Amino acid sequence: MVPSRRTWNLGATPSLLGLWRVGRAGEPQPAMARPAPASPAARPFPHTGPGRLRTGRGKDTPAGGDEDSGVHSAGRPALAQCRALSVDWAGPGSPHRLYLTVQVENLKEKLISQAQEVSRLRSELGGTDLEKHRDLLMVENERLRQEMRRCEAELQELRGKPGAACTGCEHSQESAQLRDKLSQLQLEVAENKGMLSELNLEVQQKTDRLAEVELRLKDCLAEKAQEEERLSRRLRDSHETIASLRAQSPPIKYVIKTVEVESSKTKQALSESQARNQHLQEQVAMQRQVLKEMEQQLQSSHQLTAQLRAQIAMYEAELERAHGQMLEEMQSLEEDKNRAIEEAFARAQVEMKAVHENLAGVRTNLLTLQPALRTLTNDYNGLKRQVRGFPLLLQEALKSVKAEIGQAIEEVSSNNQELLRKYRRELQLRKKCHNELVRLKGNIRVIARVRPVTKEDGEGPEATNAVTFDPDDDSIIHLLHKGKPVSFELDKVFSPRASQQDVFQEVQALITSCIDGFNVCIFAYGQTGAGKTYTMEGTPENPGINQRALQLLFSEVQEKASDWAYTITVSAAEIYNEALRDLLGQEPQEKLEIRLCPDGSGQLYVPGLTEFQVQSVDDINKVFEFGHTNRTTEFTNLNEHSSRSHALLIVTVRGVDCSTGLRTTGKLNLVDLAGSERVGKSGAEGSRLREAQHINKSLSALGDVIAALRSRQGHVPFRNSKLTYLLQDSLSGDSKTLMVVQVSPVEKNTSETLYSLKFAERVRSVELGPGSRRAELGSWSSQEHLEWEPACQTPQPAARAHSAPGSGSTSRPGSIRRKLQPSA
Ligand code: ADP
Ligand code: MG
Repeated sequence: MVPSRRTWNLGATPSLLGLWRVGRAGEPQPAMARPAPASPAARPFPHTGPGRLRTGRGKDTPAGGDEDSGVHSAGRPALAQCRALSVDWAGPGSPHRLYLTVQVENLKEKLISQAQEVSRLRSELGGTDLEKHRDLLMVENERLRQEMRRCEAELQELRGKPGAACTGCEHSQESAQLRDKLSQLQLEVAENKGMLSELNLEVQQKTDRLAEVELRLKDCLAEKAQEEERLSRRLRDSHETIASLRAQSPPIKYVIKTVEVESSKTKQALSESQARNQHLQEQVAMQRQVLKEMEQQLQSSHQLTAQLRAQIAMYEAELERAHGQMLEEMQSLEEDKNRAIEEAFARAQVEMKAVHENLAGVRTNLLTLQPALRTLTNDYNGLKRQVRGFPLLLQEALKSVKAEIGQAIEEVSSNNQELLRKYRRELQLRKKCHNELVRLKGNIRVIARVRPVTKEDGEGPEATNAVTFDPDDDSIIHLLHKGKPVSFELDKVFSPRASQQDVFQEVQALITSCIDGFNVCIFAYGQTGAGKTYTMEGTPENPGINQRALQLLFSEVQEKASDWAYTITVSAAEIYNEALRDLLGQEPQEKLEIRLCPDGSGQLYVPGLTEFQVQSVDDINKVFEFGHTNRTTEFTNLNEHSSRSHALLIVTVRGVDCSTGLRTTGKLNLVDLAGSERVGKSGAEGSRLREAQHINKSLSALGDVIAALRSRQGHVPFRNSKLTYLLQDSLSGDSKTLMVVQVSPVEKNTSETLYSLKFAERVRSVELGPGSRRAELGSWSSQEHLEWEPACQTPQPAARAHSAPGSGSTSRPGSIRRKLQPSA
């Protein structure tokens, strides 16, 4: 700015002043020539002024035109004067010289006025409104910024205060709302700030443009100064030339001519500079226009600023209000707080009072406790001493306790050993006792079971019941045979009302014996249809001895499982016409042989007889099923066949005592014998006769064996039949035998019933004392031959007479047995 305001120092242009002085000093100037230069000198800017500048370009131009015309009109008379005086042009007052001087003066004036005009324009353009506006805006900006900072600080303060005071209070929500509002306002203020900064930027841009315009103006002025410099140089040269011409009077004319020529050149230059001046003025006018636009823009930004200020004022008012609310809230909070403090204080005082009272109580307690404490302290010290010695005591105690425990363990283990020994002894004793019991009951027991009257028995006198029982003695059975009552005594008699379980009660002890390692034989004896199969097998709903025996066997084995490991195997066979067949084998038709064990133990075995190991009653049932199927496929009339054959189920129980390793083997033979009816009497022939003969033979062999066993004869005829031979090891020694004699109750069967009961009683009675046994045995054998073998040739009436129920013997054989039992 400063350089652009440079002004023209007219006093520093010696050439022009010099010219002026030369003119005045040489000769007195004519009145017409004088006023022209004098006027511009006295008033250098005759046509300029603020008023004129603002009128615009339109008026400037004519003003310039006037000026030019003024110059010309001032120059023209002078030129005419010069021409008139051209004769004496070389002298100091020559017209040519005067003319030149005037022209130079004019030019100088014009130059000065233009320079001043330029400087004035410059000062008006650059230094005034725009700059002021900009400065003002900058100041305003600064003020707004400060105000914002202050607002922010206040906000911060407000934010800090209620936050601390209202934590957790009921006004905190309102406070938060206010805070939100505040932050909103802050956001708006930030937006306004942005707008302000944009305006600043705009102002800056305009300032830059202004600076650019100034620069351009400066350049123009510099150009003009150069031009001026050049012109003044030429003027000086002209003066010098004139002076030198004056000094050389002869060629002066010529020189003047030259000057005239040069003067025309100067004119041309002048016109050029005028054109340039014109151009510059146009540019200035353009700049003015730009300036005007800028002013308008500035005006609009002022308006915007005013709007922003109004907004800020509004925000400030809102802030003020929020601040006021906040203060109110803080006030109320403060009051709440004070109130709460007062309440708390009052409560604390009450509590304090209570505590003080407690303290007083505690103090008195303490006073009373002190002596107790003293004794406690003494006790404690004593205990401490004891505790110090405790580890030693403990060690000793532990040592002694360990020793005691060791001793106790030893005692316990020896006790255990003793107990185990005793247990085993007891076990043996129990076995012995059980065995003794069974033996006392009789190793061979005979029971009778009378079946109920069935539909198959038909109706009429033949189907009437011929069997009665003694209500006071369950071993007595009465039979009405051909109108005569006959009584028999057996080990037990079961009436038709007896259930399968009742019958099985008699078997239970034998199962225990079998598990203990004894061999057991259970026979069902009787005429066909008397109920042998029913008693042995039973029905699926009401199983017989076979099923129940096995169930008991399994349950007892299970009970002993902790001490004994048992294996149970099952075989099933039948003997028909003295041929042994395997019912569980693949080829039931195959006849099996009974052989002596090659190990020399005297034991018998049947090579090829199938043995199934069974784990449960289900397994047994499967085995029965299989055996039954085999029998059904083999024989067309199974009922017929089964009544003519002996069916055997052989169960072997092998046990190992887990603690002693002792091994036991017991065999349970369940035999459903062939029908005992005497077919021979009805005159059977052929195969039927053969069957009868075989059945008779085997049944009498069984009677013989049992008799021999009971009478403890040295020779027992086991080999007389397949049945006795097969059951040899189960009948001899300490084996147990139960004979179930099945009886039909109806009238038509009384002879067979009589026969069966006689057989049963005789079997039972052989057990009586050795003398009578022998005597009984003798008579029985002969009787059996008579009775069993009707086809035999030598009947023995004596024996029959002895056993005849109608013999008139009122004393029952059982009474003799009862007498002798203790010695047995
Ligand atoms: P066996 O085998 O001696 O030829 P069964 O056992 O086949 O005779 O019996 C012949 C019939 O008598 C069968 O129908 C059987 O159900 C029936 N029976 C046998 N004993 C009894 C009894 N104690 N209770 C009911 N019915 C019986
Ligand atoms: Mg049968």
